[in-house]
Amino acid sequence: MRRLALLVLLPGLAFAQEAKPPAGFYPPPPLAPRVLEGPCPDCGGGGKVESKYGPGIRNSRGEEEEAKVLMPCRRCRATGRCDRRAPFAERHALQQRLLIAYDRDHRAARRVPVGAGFMDAEAEAALSPEARADLAARFPKRCERCLGLGEDECRKCDGSGERLVSGERRPCEACAGSGTHPCGKCKGSGLAKVCSRCDGRGTVEAKAKRGIPAHTERCRSCGGDGRR
Ligand SMILES: [Zn+2]
Ligand SMILES: [Zn+2]
Ligand SMILES: [Zn+2]
Ligand SMILES: [Zn+2]
Repeated sequence: MRRLALLVLLPGLAFAQEAKPPAGFYPPPPLAPRVLEGPCPDCGGGGKVESKYGPGIRNSRGEEEEAKVLMPCRRCRATGRCDRRAPFAERHALQQRLLIAYDRDHRAARRVPVGAGFMDAEAEAALSPEARADLAARFPKRCERCLGLGEDECRKCDGSGERLVSGERRPCEACAGSGTHPCGKCKGSGLAKVCSRCDGRGTVEAKAKRGIPAHTERCRSCGGDGRR
């Protein structure tokens, strides 16, 4: 019974350890959400939609007539704004604003980058090359182009996911209606390129030289991040 309880607890404990970064480390902000509040796509932000079915409109002969009337938009409850899938350009711009603010705050506090995060300079200096590399691997440096989103805008439909085909809106065949492609630089991973000097380890083995014994040191090419 006790063993069972321990088995149930262990994954939880492992997660708790994984989730808690070391003291003095400030994890990067989460990625900008896919769903954002903005103008309602159904009514274009006007709060009203055109409906063909007029409520009981009859002509002089008493026949029900098809009339176009404006009805309150159901999707946004006529407010013109709602939660919707954010166009890629909007999501990318938000991601950029989040990262600029994060970067500015931590640089102002004279913290140093570790992977995608920042750390108090003294705490970072106290890390062993291996511990620093582990931390950078847990919060890997992001792709410069997509800022970690792993996506790029579909140029065929300008990110809308739709194309006008003989006057009709159809899902864009180039992106299957998603409005995006995997980022060409990181192939969709959202991560910066693995450092070729250290093979992504962030550390290199230094041979014994001039009285200094062989030891593990930070890779100078990637600064110990394993990615650049
Ligand atoms: Zn609406
Ligand atoms: Zn497309
Ligand atoms: Zn990318
Ligand atoms: Zn390296």
